[in-house]
Amino acid sequence: MHPKLISLENQFARSILTKVSAPCLDREQVELWIKRDDLLHPIVSGNKWRKLKYILNHALSLGAIKIVSMGGAYSNHLHALAYIGHRLGLQTEGFIRGEPQSNPTLSDLRRWGMHLHFVSREDYRNLRQYKDWNSLPGIDTGAYWLPEGGSVDLALQGVAELVSEIDILYDVVCCPCGTGTTLAGIIEAVRPGVQVIGFSALKGGSFLKRDVEALLTQPRENWDIVTDYHFGGFARTKPDLIEFIEHFLNETSVQLDPIYTGKMFYGIYDLIEKGFFPAGRRIVAMHTGGLQGNRGFCLT
Ligand SMILES: *Cc1c(COP(=O)(O)O)cnc(C)c1O
Repeated sequence: MHPKLISLENQFARSILTKVSAPCLDREQVELWIKRDDLLHPIVSGNKWRKLKYILNHALSLGAIKIVSMGGAYSNHLHALAYIGHRLGLQTEGFIRGEPQSNPTLSDLRRWGMHLHFVSREDYRNLRQYKDWNSLPGIDTGAYWLPEGGSVDLALQGVAELVSEIDILYDVVCCPCGTGTTLAGIIEAVRPGVQVIGFSALKGGSFLKRDVEALLTQPRENWDIVTDYHFGGFARTKPDLIEFIEHFLNETSVQLDPIYTGKMFYGIYDLIEKGFFPAGRRIVAMHTGGLQGNRGFCLT
């Protein structure tokens, strides 16, 4: 590991496990624990550090001076990348989907020195075809290309560390899915017999399943993706979801976001209420962070 990454990670807080108490859990006799990756760092929350760690180590080992990536206008991925790049002394560049605009996330990116290019939806989709670090046409020498969401196999190594930190026995792991990269890392890292469930933040999760399969080093049977809790699509919300997030905060003191973790916990509670999990199951849900994105929503 590059010494710069080690010294950055040394400043991170511990991602603890906390047990949730709620009437539905007692009734159905299941346990729910939260792996608080949102606590790792006030800016670089959760799974974005896990995914970036070994990618950046690779980039640094190649002598890269700049990381180029892509994301939406509220992207947690670009937010983490811009901040870490700033801290490591790496230049960063981001392709942003949509018209030039301003919002708190983009202000942070600019403040941390990320060079922004706003691109049409079509150009943005085209960028998705470039999967390898050196595959983007016309990229500067010394620059390292990182596909959307850090979705490359090196990301799985960092996610495996997240799994290895869980020091209790468990039957089920739940995590929210955007690109499915975090899910793939969990699937590979859990011990045999553990069931892994991804909750899609997007509508139409069938491509997601294929993307996860493509990231896995060997076919696995221990996982599934639930697609019933997207609330209308990526970054869409409904009053029901916002109400759930407020209720969850009051009950547990854990803040969720409406894009990923709110939808997952809503889904977990709904499945528990429906008796989906047999009695005696111990579930660990990954709080992947992402709270900076809440600035795009009217949450209390
Ligand atoms: C990016 C993100 C995800 C999705 O991660 P993938 O690896 O792309 O599936 C989940 N939760 C939060 C909070 C995120 O920011």
